[in-house]
Amino acid sequence: MVKYAQVAVPVPLKDEFTYSFDPEAMDVKPGVRVIVPFKNRRMQGYVISVSDDKPEVEFAIKNIQRVVDKEPLFDKKDYDLALWMERFYFSSRGEILDTMIPGGRKDTSFGGLDAEEAIERPDVVLSEEQENAVRTVMETDERMYYLFGVTGSGKTEVFLRCAEKVIEQGGQVIYLVPEITLTHQLALQVLKRFRNNVAILHSGLTDSQRIAQWRKIKRSEVSLVIGARSAVFAPFANLKMIIIDEEHENSYKSGNAPRYHARQVAQKRITDCKGKLLMGSATPSLEAWHLMKDPSKMVRIDLRNRVGGGSMPKIEIADMVKEEGLFSSLLQERMMRTLADGKQVILFLNRRGFSYYFHCRSCGYELKCPHCDVAMTYHKRRNILQCHYCGYSRKPVTVCPECGSMDVMYSGFGTEQVEQELRRLFPLYRVERLDTDTVSSDRTVIQKTLDDFRAGKINILLGTQMVAKGLNFPNVRLVGIVMADSGLLIPDFRAEERTFDLLVQVSGRSGRADSNGEVIIQTRMKDNPAIDFATRSDVEAFFDQELAIRKETSFPPFSRMVNIVFRSPKASAARECADNVAHSLRNVCRNTQIYGPNECPVEKIRENYRIQILLRSKKASDMLAGLNSVVSSVKLPHNVAMDIDVDPVDLL
Ligand code: ADP
Ligand code: ZN
Ligand code: ZN
Repeated sequence: MVKYAQVAVPVPLKDEFTYSFDPEAMDVKPGVRVIVPFKNRRMQGYVISVSDDKPEVEFAIKNIQRVVDKEPLFDKKDYDLALWMERFYFSSRGEILDTMIPGGRKDTSFGGLDAEEAIERPDVVLSEEQENAVRTVMETDERMYYLFGVTGSGKTEVFLRCAEKVIEQGGQVIYLVPEITLTHQLALQVLKRFRNNVAILHSGLTDSQRIAQWRKIKRSEVSLVIGARSAVFAPFANLKMIIIDEEHENSYKSGNAPRYHARQVAQKRITDCKGKLLMGSATPSLEAWHLMKDPSKMVRIDLRNRVGGGSMPKIEIADMVKEEGLFSSLLQERMMRTLADGKQVILFLNRRGFSYYFHCRSCGYELKCPHCDVAMTYHKRRNILQCHYCGYSRKPVTVCPECGSMDVMYSGFGTEQVEQELRRLFPLYRVERLDTDTVSSDRTVIQKTLDDFRAGKINILLGTQMVAKGLNFPNVRLVGIVMADSGLLIPDFRAEERTFDLLVQVSGRSGRADSNGEVIIQTRMKDNPAIDFATRSDVEAFFDQELAIRKETSFPPFSRMVNIVFRSPKASAARECADNVAHSLRNVCRNTQIYGPNECPVEKIRENYRIQILLRSKKASDMLAGLNSVVSSVKLPHNVAMDIDVDPVDLL
């Protein structure tokens, strides 16, 4: 006898496929993974249902090759969530299950962990503000709470106390942290505190370890899960709280299909289980800020003071219009003083806009990656030019490839140049650099550098986005932002919000346990609101003003957007599909503005030409209904891919 299984396979825009199997030979049941032939490949699929009856299909049904799991990995509840995501994000249920369940796609967070490594943390006595925050969350009966607290106000402690209380009452908790290594310390603390009752999902785990953790969670052998974005899928049966630390972080949004946002998935799960969503940040997303204006939607809880003896740092501007070189006299002078006092300095470079590239002065030629439409960055130490999108590298050139002129130069400045200049200016102090170039291959390098910095062996830590978040070094008195403006020039309506967030977060690394904390912001745009409000530490005023601008210009959160990108090695094929889809969208989407098709700001990545259509609507249901009908009837040629990004956080 032959049976039939409906299998979800991780390919775009298709739901389920029928395969046959011999029940005598293999044990196929809903919820297990199977290996199936798909086109000319073998793929891992997810069994949704099994039946005795042959479904009516016009093609030959192929056999399942192998069953991967003895016991089901997912159940109806997980599947229902996948179906919700399928509708919300225009992804296939196969792609979604592949993302939810470990063993499919990769997610990254921290490296290996050992509870013994954790820094001894005496039982802290909660401040009055913290006490009040815990009480508000635990003793009121609302769905969503936001802990709006200045950097260093002890938000983590509030999160952990709430988690403890929920667990005491028999509930289960998911604690999400941004996708970076620097939360290592937090993971250690949690491990120490919750011991055997916590599963930590980190990138150091192998696939089979991750599956083991998933099963442990499913059997309720633990009550707390901590992890990056995809931990939001942890299959707890009695979920009662989801915590989102640093809620504004972009890493909560997936950059691949399904392009889900962990906050949106968390909202959905919490609504279904009637639990509580607790988020927090010193710089909320505009979406959250908007919700907080209405306490019936989200309860705002303020933490206005720093704990642990610190106070908010003093922030000053260095106007680079009037300065020469990389470091203003103000910053140099403050660095000297700080270092002479035996205190430490963090210098921050915004990665975006920091690169050192080839430029011809005769014809204006700029050396771009042959596979992507982006300038290649010169790396002095390795003496190569490299593309940051695809990794392609080549030898540096000394003659213009376009016109043959020798009047060429490498311009701009990168972290290496800044590092060199620092060593020249401060020869007596130890400088270390921490960015994705120095550490990409080895996560232990990050940990080593941070440990050395904590131990005081490093005086000046120079870094990119990696040093902006979560770091807590009591001996840091000065933070310098080498160039605050670089993120402001990006063509994105969120450019100012991002820049502001970064400035506040980076500034927050100073004066954690010291009342003399200082921040110097170097800028050529001191009147820009993002810089001006950050200098005055006026977070509320900035967000209120930004919210008013978004309202006036109908940008999110006052509208919703969808970015559709067509990719193809053949520009004309991508263009043709985009034209057709745009035409259909214009016919069916009511109350929707449709922009394009246009070339993406980055026109080509890895030999694929990219064309985009942007949709925007204040009536999202109309826009999404129209999009849905177009998507379900679209036929793409084999050489064109279509990516649909609902509520995009990045328009490049
Ligand atoms: P935030 O996340 O709000 O920036 P953290 O949670 O990192 O702040 O807390 C800053 C530091 O203060 C941490 O080292 C934390 O252990 C410590 N801390 C938290 N609560 C208290 C308290 N009530 N008393 C003393 N120290 C505290
Ligand atoms: Zn030239
Ligand atoms: Zn490239």
